[in-house]
Amino acid sequence: MNTTHARQRLVIGNWKMNGSLAANAALLQAVRAGSEAQAGCQVAVCVPFPYLAQAQAQLSGGTVSWGAQDVSVHASGAYTGEVSAGMLNDFACRWVLVGHSERRSYHAETDEQVALKAAVALQAGLTPVVCIGETLQQQEAGETAQVISRQLGPVLALGAQSVSRMVIAYEPVWAIGTGRTATPEQAQAVHALVRQALEALGVGQVQVLYGGSVKASNAASLFAMPDIDGALVGGAALVADEFLGIVAA
Ligand code: PEP
Repeated sequence: MNTTHARQRLVIGNWKMNGSLAANAALLQAVRAGSEAQAGCQVAVCVPFPYLAQAQAQLSGGTVSWGAQDVSVHASGAYTGEVSAGMLNDFACRWVLVGHSERRSYHAETDEQVALKAAVALQAGLTPVVCIGETLQQQEAGETAQVISRQLGPVLALGAQSVSRMVIAYEPVWAIGTGRTATPEQAQAVHALVRQALEALGVGQVQVLYGGSVKASNAASLFAMPDIDGALVGGAALVADEFLGIVAA
């Protein structure tokens, strides 16, 4: 690990819709035990809603924090299937992912809704991890910078005070779950754009994570980049040794 890095390292596991009480018990125990020695890196897991109580029970009092993968923009009421920020607080969540590409594509979440979710999370004292990233088609059309700027627009419009309490995750859609990772240089180029936008707002210390097929074997080269502060990890977060290998990097 590069201890001279300006911002604290952060590795968050996104379990997506995976797990079972039995499998989680072993994974949470291994992640908790294996993360204890990694003082220089914050470690977290974002689990499916039904397993928040289990994450809280198994991780409380340790160094690994936990969170959810989505949040409703509403506080309560007739919104079947939704989960509010207040409910996440009942399970002592620290984090919530907002705008993951799977939410944007399968649930048609707009940039404005994602920003609203981030605002609602902040109001409840949660840290939103705002996910952004271009599709393969957009990348091939040379539209990456434009897409990133469009997705960030409503989020940055929440203002410096709000943005300073967020985490941004750059996840090129073409690299999520595909085994195709952005090269460190490719990722760094986009992170530099995000960093510039954050600095223009006066919030240069916000952590910017990279996500997209991060594994123990490629994490160190990604983390060597000056504007990559850690990782949002999908598939590899389900395998304790892989996930801990990323944390160790
Ligand atoms: C993700 O879903 O946030 C992700 C980065 O997935 P994977 O690591 O599996 O590409």
